[in-house]
Amino acid sequence: MRKPIIAGNWKMNKTAAECRELITALAPKVKDAKCDVVVCVPFTDIALAAELTKGTNIAVGAQNIAWADNGAFTGEISAAMLNEAGATYVIIGHSERRQYFGETDKTVNARLVQALKNGFNPIVCVGEMLAEREGGKTETVCRTQVVGAFEGITAEDAAKVVIAYEPVWAIGTGKTATDEQANETIGYIRSVVKELYGAKIADGMRIQYGGSMNAKNVDGLMAQDQIDGGLIGGASLKPDDFAYIVNAAK
Ligand code: PEP
Repeated sequence: MRKPIIAGNWKMNKTAAECRELITALAPKVKDAKCDVVVCVPFTDIALAAELTKGTNIAVGAQNIAWADNGAFTGEISAAMLNEAGATYVIIGHSERRQYFGETDKTVNARLVQALKNGFNPIVCVGEMLAEREGGKTETVCRTQVVGAFEGITAEDAAKVVIAYEPVWAIGTGKTATDEQANETIGYIRSVVKELYGAKIADGMRIQYGGSMNAKNVDGLMAQDQIDGGLIGGASLKPDDFAYIVNAAK
């Protein structure tokens, strides 16, 4: 049995004051959750979020991690800094990083290596663009991204990774993949993990769906046998909506 995991991706939203408000409202609403609950907050909110979630069942994550330990990497945040601030999860290779900030399968791999070396729980994002889905390339794209991300990663480390399947055309657009589309592609991704690491690791790996997941569609998505939770953008900014999603993931 895989324990579901619901992670909020706040993206570039919420000042410290807003972070305080959101977490204070959220914590009591998700205290009986049957899934793992994570909020991936902007770097500047991590220390505060870690403080506010102490003694709760909410873990705090970052939205990126540098591949180097330290040095001349302007704008990057190191594993030691994230660790010190209190993050235990980290999103790697989100499609917005790939689209707008030049993230590639190689940099995703380098960041994943660094996250695992430093004891983080990584959430690695993969997913196809609309033209790729329409061109019948969904599986090829997901395979390339998964194989690239896991290059050189041992089976022991791979078992610690969560994959988020996020069709890019469904992120922030209000268009969700159908339950069947999401389940089918996640099943395919699991088969790629099986090729790389064998059935035991593949069957144990948690693979989330992400892309306009909300209080209205969560029940249908979570009823699918391959879907182990969600990476939630927009709906994670509203405590009632996020709590509904969390409490639906059993
Ligand atoms: C995301 O940011 O990973 C995401 C899925 O966003 P949204 O839920 O807003 O589509």
